[in-house]
Amino acid sequence: MSATELVQRFSDFPRIRRRRLETLQVNLGYMCNQTCFHCHVNAGPNRREIMELATVKEVLAFLERSGAATLDLTGGAPEMNPHFRYMVGSARDMGVTVIDRCNLTILEQPGYETTADFLRDHDVRIVASLPCYMEDNVDAQRGDGVFEASIRALKKLNALGYGQTDSGLELGLVYNPQGASLPPPQEELEDAYRVHLREQFGIEFSYLLTIANMPINRFAKTLRREGRYNAYMKLLREAHRDVNLEGVMCRSLLSVDWRGNVYDCDFNQMLRMPLGAGGPRTHVRELRAADLEGGDIATADHCYGCTAGQGSSCTGALG
Ligand code: SF4
Ligand code: SF4
Repeated sequence: MSATELVQRFSDFPRIRRRRLETLQVNLGYMCNQTCFHCHVNAGPNRREIMELATVKEVLAFLERSGAATLDLTGGAPEMNPHFRYMVGSARDMGVTVIDRCNLTILEQPGYETTADFLRDHDVRIVASLPCYMEDNVDAQRGDGVFEASIRALKKLNALGYGQTDSGLELGLVYNPQGASLPPPQEELEDAYRVHLREQFGIEFSYLLTIANMPINRFAKTLRREGRYNAYMKLLREAHRDVNLEGVMCRSLLSVDWRGNVYDCDFNQMLRMPLGAGGPRTHVRELRAADLEGGDIATADHCYGCTAGQGSSCTGALG
């Protein structure tokens, strides 16, 4: 029995199946200029895992033959991959919508100062982490000075047109709780963000996504160290709603790691749970999108992080 089958056997999370592929989410590597404590990737400046050009080309070939409408780039800081611009340009030439999951502070790091202009010129959608509109909370979670740098980056993006009504340049913000609790209602929090960021800093944004902290990697270790892991799992499990199973992102998304291996989602990638229920690891070069539809999804207890309360996915609350 594979490790995945073992994990699944001891979970009572309901079995779910894939629908048509809509989004290819690609992790370009684990290098990041930040080391946030909740990071489910364990990303940081010392990580050296970066997708190479040959793999980037294999991913682009799959993107083309799959017909997926959206390429969602993540990391680490995806912009730190030296082939980031090549990948974005190639996908845009195919007419694919590109999302950059941006930590904001990268935009003012030495060597990355022209990144914001590049994103604007290629009509890339930006989804940016800002886990609170209060400086102390952001710095506690993401590091000293991150809030101020994020505000400067948001102002720069606004000046380029991002987040401004009718510009067509989408700027989404992502909220995640400070600790072991579920996110508050997305719409109410969006209103609070909008009022505060506009009044305090003159900042505009397109929408807010609320995302639950997943009980894996760095966040799980922190919870275990503080003796709060079991309580958090109980909270997620008790807040599970079957209706959220309809919208979990793995039904229409495929996640690719920096080596080109594919998974049902970014979280399974971090847990090294291969695509599907218990199968061997699959490389993107071997994959046909048509083979995915209707297939089993590899699930386990961490999946309750996606179905608790209002639900949680890379596109925010589920309902
Ligand atoms: S910015 Fe994102 S990828 Fe980087 S350490 Fe923080 S959560 Fe992880
Ligand atoms: S963690 Fe969420 S997105 Fe990933 S397989 Fe489980 S339910 Fe699906």
